[in-house]
Amino acid sequence: MVGAGMAGAEAAWQLAEAGLRVALVEMKPAEMSPAHQTPLLGELVCSNSLRSDDVVTPAGLLKHELRAAGSMVIACADANRVPAGAALAVERFGFGRAITTKLAMHPNIRLERRRCDDLPAGPVIVATGPLTAGKLGEVIRNELGGDRMYFYDAIAPIVSADSIDWNHAFRGSRWGKDMVTAEPNAAETAATDMFGGKETEGGDGGAGADGSGDYINCPLNKEQYEAFVAAVNGGRKVLPHAFEEPKYFEGCMPIEVMAERGEGTLRFGPMKPIGLRDPRTGRRPWAVVQLRPENQYLTAYNLVGFQTRLAYPEQQRIFQMVPGLANAEFLRFGSIHRNTYIDAPAKLGERFELRTRPHLRFAGLLTGVEGYIESCAMGLLCARMLIDELRGRPLNVPPPTTMMGGLYLHVTAPRVGPYRYAPTNSNYGLMPPLPLEPDGKYRKDNKKPRMSERAQRDFAAWLPTLLRA
Ligand SMILES: Cc1cc2nc3c(=O)[nH]c(=O)nc-3n(C[C@H](O)[C@H](O)[C@H](O)COP(=O)(O)OP(=O)(O)OC[C@H]3O[C@@H](n4cnc5c(N)ncnc54)[C@H](O)[C@@H]3O)c2cc1C
Repeated sequence: MVGAGMAGAEAAWQLAEAGLRVALVEMKPAEMSPAHQTPLLGELVCSNSLRSDDVVTPAGLLKHELRAAGSMVIACADANRVPAGAALAVERFGFGRAITTKLAMHPNIRLERRRCDDLPAGPVIVATGPLTAGKLGEVIRNELGGDRMYFYDAIAPIVSADSIDWNHAFRGSRWGKDMVTAEPNAAETAATDMFGGKETEGGDGGAGADGSGDYINCPLNKEQYEAFVAAVNGGRKVLPHAFEEPKYFEGCMPIEVMAERGEGTLRFGPMKPIGLRDPRTGRRPWAVVQLRPENQYLTAYNLVGFQTRLAYPEQQRIFQMVPGLANAEFLRFGSIHRNTYIDAPAKLGERFELRTRPHLRFAGLLTGVEGYIESCAMGLLCARMLIDELRGRPLNVPPPTTMMGGLYLHVTAPRVGPYRYAPTNSNYGLMPPLPLEPDGKYRKDNKKPRMSERAQRDFAAWLPTLLRA
C-alpha cells in the first residue's frame, strides 16, 4: 500500500482487518508535499470539514454508506467531531492521531516511512494522491503508456437537467450534427495532459469541426452577453495556492482569463454561436452557453468550456444570469487546481487495476474522485475488491443507485465518444434517475430525499456481501 492519506489509510485498515499482512509505505515525515504539514497519517490537507452529515445531501449519504461499511476513517472523524452545524468537522490533529495510532498499532500492518519511487511487485495499491511525490508520478505515467495522466484539473460546473428553463434553452448541435454520427474530435482524443498543451474543451465546435452533439444551448443577446462578461470580470476569484503555478493552456483557459482579454473573447471561445440557430427567433444568437450531457441518464449537464476559478457563490450568481439557467441547480461547481489523476475509464479495469498490469491498483484521488470522503470510499472499495479476489470470490460492485456505486461507475465505466475525464465529488448526477411515475412522467418534488432513501435501501441490501469475512 503506497500512500497513507484518505484512501491509503482506509484501504490499509480494511486489508489488515481482513487478516492480510500489509506493508504501508508513507513518505512523511521525511518528505512533505507542499500541502501536507504533519507526520500524521490520514492528514486533512486543507479544510477540517468532511462536509454535510445530513443523509439527504450527497456527502451525507456517502458518509452514511461509509459508516455502514465499517470505515475506519469515518469512525475516527466521528470520534473527533467538533461542532459545525450539519457538517461533520473534526479536530484535525486528534483525527490524524487516531488514524495514525490505529494503523501503526495494527499487528497486520508494517509501516514504512519512506518515499516510494518505484512500483513494488506483488499486489499493490497506489494512493499517493494529487501531490504524488518524487519519481513515482513519472513511473506511473510510463506504466500508463506515456499518457492518460492529468496534472491539472480544469473542471466545468455541472447543473441538474431538470433545473434548466426550456423557455430559453434549446437543444441542438452545431450545424445540426449529432453525437451518434460524429467522429471524435481529433484534438480531444489526442489529449495528453495540460503540460503537453494538447487539452481542449471547445464544446461541439472543437477546432471548427463538430465533435459531438445533443447539446443544450442557452442563447444570450448582446446586452445579456455584455452584462455577463462584466459580471465575470468583477466576480470574486479563488487565488491559487502558493505551489500552484497559474499556468494555463489555450484549450482549458479559465473563463475569467478569457473575459479579461477583451469583451469579445468569450464569444469567439466557449460562447461562440456559430452553427446554431435559436428556434424561437430563427436567428443565430449573439452568444451561447452550451451544455453537454455529463451522464448516461441525461440528468446532469456540464457547461462546456466553463472551467473557472470564480468562488462558488459567485459561480451560482453569475451563471444564473444566463437565460435558461436562472434557477439552475449546481451539482458541482467549476474549479482549476493542481492535481494528478489517471484517465481511469481508459486505463483501469473494474477492480481499479491497471489493465496492462493487473497486480497494480489505484485508489483515491488518483483515480479521479475529488474530496476527502470520496477518496476514502474508493480506498475502501478497492481494498474490499482485492480481498475478494485474493479469496477467490467474484467481483462485488455497489449498486449504481448508491453514492458509492455512482462514484465507482464514474471511475470505471467505459466512456463512449469524445470525452475528457475529470474528477468528480459525490453528487446526485452520478445516479440513475428515479423511476417514472404511473402517468409516465418524472416527479420533481423531493427528488433528493427520495434518491437518498433509495440509495440507503439498496446499500443496506448490498452490505452483507460487502462485509463478508
Ligand atoms: C491543496 C489541496 C487542498 C485540498 N483541500 C480539500 C478540502 O478542503 N476538502 C476536500 O474534501 N478535499 C480537498 N483536497 C483534495 C484532497 O487531496 C483529497 O480529497 C484527498 O486528500 C485525497 O486523498 P488521497 O488519499 O487520494 O491522497 P492524500 O490524502 O493526499 O494522501 C496521499 C499520501 O501519499 C503520500 N505520498 C505521496 N507521494 C508519495 C510517494 N512517492 N511515496 C510515499 N508516499 C507518498 C503523501 O504524503 C500522502 O500522505 C485538497 C487537495 C489539495 C492538493
